[in-house]
Amino acid sequence: MFIMSIRQLEPDVAAKIAAGEVVERPASVVKELIENSIDAGSTQIRVDLAHGGLQLIRVTDNGCGIAADELPLALARHATSKVTQIDDLEHIRSLGFRGEALASIAAVAEVTLLSRQKDAAQGAQIGAANGQLSAVTTAASPEGTTMTVRNLFSAVPARLKFLKSRNTEVSHCHHLLEQYALAYPEIRFSVFSDGRQIFATPGDGQLASVLVEVYGLQVADQMVSVASEQQGDAGEQPVVSGYVSRPNCYKSTRQHISFFVNRRWVLSRMLTAAVEGAYHSLLLTGRHPIAVINIQLDPALLDVNVHPAKTEIRFLKERRVFAAILRAVRAALLEEPQMPQWKPREALEAPTGQKEERRAEEDATPVPEHTRDQPLQGSVQQDELLAGKSVDPQQTRRLPHLRVIGQLAQSYIVTEGEQGMYLIDQHAAHERILLERMVATLKARTPMSQLLLTPLELELAPSELEAIEEHMPQLESIGFTLEIAEDQKLLVRAVPSVLVKQMNAHSLHELLLETTAPESLGHTETWEERALANVACKAAIKANYFLTVSEMREMIEQLEQTRAPYSCCHGRPTMIHFTLPALAHEFERR
Ligand code: ADP
Ligand code: MG
Repeated sequence: MFIMSIRQLEPDVAAKIAAGEVVERPASVVKELIENSIDAGSTQIRVDLAHGGLQLIRVTDNGCGIAADELPLALARHATSKVTQIDDLEHIRSLGFRGEALASIAAVAEVTLLSRQKDAAQGAQIGAANGQLSAVTTAASPEGTTMTVRNLFSAVPARLKFLKSRNTEVSHCHHLLEQYALAYPEIRFSVFSDGRQIFATPGDGQLASVLVEVYGLQVADQMVSVASEQQGDAGEQPVVSGYVSRPNCYKSTRQHISFFVNRRWVLSRMLTAAVEGAYHSLLLTGRHPIAVINIQLDPALLDVNVHPAKTEIRFLKERRVFAAILRAVRAALLEEPQMPQWKPREALEAPTGQKEERRAEEDATPVPEHTRDQPLQGSVQQDELLAGKSVDPQQTRRLPHLRVIGQLAQSYIVTEGEQGMYLIDQHAAHERILLERMVATLKARTPMSQLLLTPLELELAPSELEAIEEHMPQLESIGFTLEIAEDQKLLVRAVPSVLVKQMNAHSLHELLLETTAPESLGHTETWEERALANVACKAAIKANYFLTVSEMREMIEQLEQTRAPYSCCHGRPTMIHFTLPALAHEFERR
């Protein structure tokens, strides 16, 4: 075997290796630099990139600046103005604390640090290349700091190899800057790539304004504000605020769910699961919300020092944070439900450019039903609606007064209301009604079970029986009484009461398999949620089923009692609104 003797690394080699932890790609440099600008109290931050940041990254801020004699220290490893002793980390408020970012960047690029403190007569500058510092010289500078990073990784070919195309690196930087802009609406950000402005925020302190810049007016219009009951100073209980998209506005990935904990951008599966959990039965699987969630928490309940880039944190009371987010987001979504609306094709195809004015009748309309499969895009202007005023759900009727006109194809209920025609999917509507009834029963711990006069016998495969055996207590909790007989048959003695009318051996078999299949659980829902949705689906009246007018009326009345009347258990719409203007337009009456 080939054996090498151990030796101390040359300082510049050690520094380059250490830098790898912090500086992975241009976006990591941008992150460290703007965090420093934010920590310095800046209200304006400008970022310039050339060739995806590999040629040049320059961050200019109007923060507190650095004293001329401290410039060499700023570039030195483990030199920071933010922490003096280890206990400081317990109540850290600044984004930086390790004092190694600038040193790491200087190890893998050529940097120039130019700065002037507020009352200083003149500015000063220092340079570093390959870890070697130049002397400090006086230089003209506006108040604040300008950090220029050139030829990133040119001396670290191994790292250079792993970088993606220029555009990919720009989009990483862009995404990151959007996140910081969302976290700091009071800071005016402007970002240029090869001389062209690619992103800017007004810095007016309104999260809503940044939402418009990041996601466009159409999406921003569909966001509702989130606020936990607990507001004000964060103590033991986390304070949650922000915006989330209505269920009719979604993306195909989870990338548009952002979290800021004490104004630090963090990535967390746990937090993402909490937000997505709040959309349970409101959003189809494979669709993901857009969300910006701020969490304020006593810093003593956090460990921010678990990740080199500080994008992961540890919560001391994780369940509490999870519950607070779930509750706040769910409340926001149920407070302002929106009925899906049908719109004529032409209106959909109207181009939505930047800063487009919206037409009056489009006020607060959600995404039209037949564009739902395309995630929203585009970037337009902000609107006053946007503030998402809270509505007392007790006081507002959830459905308009609807007159039943008749049944269509024995599947849809055709109704009219003051604002036009409302088409209701009888199966989806009934599913929603049954689901909420069962959830309420489960919560109240009242029996939801109905004993069968003669037990039903099901023949199952051994693996199916095994899965059912494993879930026995859970199945009991939702109303089943099951027994495995000697001959490996399953005896069904009782079922959830909603099932009694619609039950047959085949659908019962299917239901039991669905609820006990190992892959049936999405990561945001509990077993009971999933199972009850399945039960509701089986128990609900189907399409092609005749309903009398009074049955239809009763169904509408019951639907109105539900908390989320516009979507079924799986997030599909229960009803679609055809507005009078839309109909008039379609018949070319105007
Ligand atoms: P950290 O942010 O962890 O303290 P850095 O290496 O990022 O470490 O920065 C070192 C120090 O340089 C900071 O503590 C701060 O005092 C100073 N500094 C860096 N950037 C700026 C800036 N844009 N404005 C003012 N001071 C800065
Ligand atoms: Mg820093």
